[in-house]
Amino acid sequence: MTRKTKLSEKLFAEAKRHIPGGVNSPVRAFKSVGGTPPFIVRAKGAYIYDADDNAYIDYVGSWGPAILGHAEPNTLSALNEAMKLGLSFGAPTSKEIELAKKVKAIRPSLELVRFVSSGTEATMSAIRVARGFTKKDKIIKFDGCYHGHADYLLVKAGSGAATCGIPDSAGVPASFAEHTLVARYNDLSSVEALLLKHKDVAALIVEPVIGNMGCIPPEPGFLEGLRELCTKHGIVFIFDEVMTGFRVALGGAEERYKITPDLSCFGKIIGGGLPVGAYGGRKDIMECVAPVGGVYQAGTLSGNPLAMTVGLKTIELLTQKNVYADLEAKGAFLEAGLRKATLDAGIPLQVNRVGSMFSFFFTDKPVTDADAARTADREHFNKVFHHLLDNGIYLAPSAFEAGFISAAHTYDDLEKTVAVFAAGL
Ligand code: PMP
Repeated sequence: MTRKTKLSEKLFAEAKRHIPGGVNSPVRAFKSVGGTPPFIVRAKGAYIYDADDNAYIDYVGSWGPAILGHAEPNTLSALNEAMKLGLSFGAPTSKEIELAKKVKAIRPSLELVRFVSSGTEATMSAIRVARGFTKKDKIIKFDGCYHGHADYLLVKAGSGAATCGIPDSAGVPASFAEHTLVARYNDLSSVEALLLKHKDVAALIVEPVIGNMGCIPPEPGFLEGLRELCTKHGIVFIFDEVMTGFRVALGGAEERYKITPDLSCFGKIIGGGLPVGAYGGRKDIMECVAPVGGVYQAGTLSGNPLAMTVGLKTIELLTQKNVYADLEAKGAFLEAGLRKATLDAGIPLQVNRVGSMFSFFFTDKPVTDADAARTADREHFNKVFHHLLDNGIYLAPSAFEAGFISAAHTYDDLEKTVAVFAAGL
């Protein structure tokens, strides 16, 4: 192993003295894969660089936002200009109108949109609105879908909760969680069974492509079936596109799968690397939000001018450059390379991919839901993960996370990734 880790180890030890587990978001701590997380100093394009000056081809992309690559120059100069005018006003700005108009033009289902500061805020607010609108309490979510860390959403959540082996978070009163019903992804009959028993369902929330149990695409008919069930039962249908929004297509899963949800949630790319989330959708539902309606939701830094600027520039560049065909081709190239490497090595592997979002599972069975993802060989993943890391390739430190390709990744980067992966097998 040539990778130096001395400074990251020192920083990690120090961080643990001040911050729980040394990190401000659990999966970063490398608990499930073991070892020390590299402490990152800077990033440019498809690369990140750590405190020991190791360079990595980055497939985390700040967990999604860096779709254009890190430190994209046009975005940085827009931010630079905006900074000169002040950091935050806590009052309306025209930037918010601009971003709202831009997002609405891309997403036909958004009649009204409200900006917040994280994906968690977006999903919990959307659910509050759905409850206010329907005057019902229960919600349906899917095993393995992560929708942020609101109390009642930390039930059978994927991502960090799955990685840390925490089925349901401590600190959540049972009386909060009892309003959350859990169905099986890609299984409409599991939703129908819940609807037979429960009449007071306000909302159904889904990651249209699961990204938080690794990447798990919807099977044909699944999202259509959910749409029909929600319409039939008067349930607010919520797409959590915090990960898939502006990722699986410019218009996210709504565009890619041609489904119209009632409400959608965004995060990650919509802020281009600064803290932004958003939720929006049908006017009659969104008009329940204060100050128009009685559902309260607010935020000191919501619509922050710097965050709006970076979001705007990011979406503008995504629109102009039409990067999605390029991302699709790069995704297909990486997928083919990974598949060939495992075939050559005689190791069973499932590669799941939707556009530039991907993951691989060491199992011979197709991974179509959270149960299937859980049966994949995680020890094997951990070994391959460390081999990749030691050789300059940075994946999310968990078998239950998706990888992201950015517009800045070159075919050379992808080829190198496949070669290192193949050698590791
Ligand atoms: N929903 C989904 C689908 C996510 O992937 C995430 C974060 N990974 C969230 C919600 C929560 O977003 P945030 O971390 O910005 O609160």
